[in-house]
Amino acid sequence: MSFVHLHVHSGYSLDSVIKIDELVQTARAMNMPAVALTDHGHMFGLKEFYKAARAVGVKPILGVEVNVVHDLHRLDPNDLGHHLVLLAKNLEGYLNLRQLVSLANREGNFGQPRVDKKLLATHSQGIIALSACLQGEIPSLILEGRSAEARSTTEEYARLFPDCFYLELQNHGIPAQAVINAELMEITRALDLPLVAANDCHYLEKEQSELHDILLCGRTGATVVTRTRLRFPSPEYYFKSASEMAAAFPHLPEALANTLAIAERCQVEFSRSSQILAHAERCEKVIRLRLPEALAVAARALGLNEDEVGLLTDLARQDRKSLFQVAEVSPGVAKLLVLAAELENLPSHFSTPVTGLAIADRPQLAKRPIKS
Ligand SMILES: [Zn+2]
Ligand SMILES: [Zn+2]
Repeated sequence: MSFVHLHVHSGYSLDSVIKIDELVQTARAMNMPAVALTDHGHMFGLKEFYKAARAVGVKPILGVEVNVVHDLHRLDPNDLGHHLVLLAKNLEGYLNLRQLVSLANREGNFGQPRVDKKLLATHSQGIIALSACLQGEIPSLILEGRSAEARSTTEEYARLFPDCFYLELQNHGIPAQAVINAELMEITRALDLPLVAANDCHYLEKEQSELHDILLCGRTGATVVTRTRLRFPSPEYYFKSASEMAAAFPHLPEALANTLAIAERCQVEFSRSSQILAHAERCEKVIRLRLPEALAVAARALGLNEDEVGLLTDLARQDRKSLFQVAEVSPGVAKLLVLAAELENLPSHFSTPVTGLAIADRPQLAKRPIKS
């Protein structure tokens, strides 16, 4: 029986030593039809990964492991956040991942990029989510003995990712995982949700666990004798073969088979989408930088007073969604936006999943008269 690794960190994650070309070669050598990359909090390695995997005939599954906090805009020392694995099911999902990671880094970064459930709710389309490692929210609640909350939190994630949320089973020979897995199996029965088996890969071969440990010291500025250093609890965080995974989950063929089913569900065509994406990102940047100023010029030209100009440019800077909602009901504001777009030659086509807005994509706005 085959298997697909859906939880893999590359050297682009601080705590992994996996090289992308070796990762895809290993997946191929093990006859795995696909492999995922899920680095911590960013997607720097995905382009290289996508190309390398395609080149050896392995399907690349584009993912990220995010850190979920209660409120991404606040630093709460009591809320270190919880891990969640996200995989792009399709192009929309990939664009949503990009947007999530971008906002996590831009607005939620207090030492590390963070998202919250409010943000996940607005960008969950096209994404498959897995409940992640010991640091996942559901496993953490189970370990704290908060079973009822573990169950309600599972329901919450299942609502966030309808038909796309899997309870992730890991077995790195750690006693805590046995406790977690037993309860995850109970939850899955009670809520009729699917399980999926995973190994949290941070190095390719078992023999590399010591090398990994030393490199971890180097990257975190510790030495092997530092007591409080970041250290992995077992030497099992490697890229196991299908048979090793089957041995780790002997009575759970369904959780193993679901790795293949998820790989089947994920299909991001990058060759075409990369152009759309690059364009959408350029547009987003151009709009963010130039829209407020262009709007101010247009507003002054039409005789608005400085208070009104300030109000509009603030909206353009901080809350473009509201600005466009106002434009929907106010022909005056709509006309201003069209003028601003023309003044600054702002792009006329950009992807709504990325920007959440479109100026010249709405030609009807231009036809509306200015309200006197
Ligand atoms: Zn994790
Ligand atoms: Zn991980």
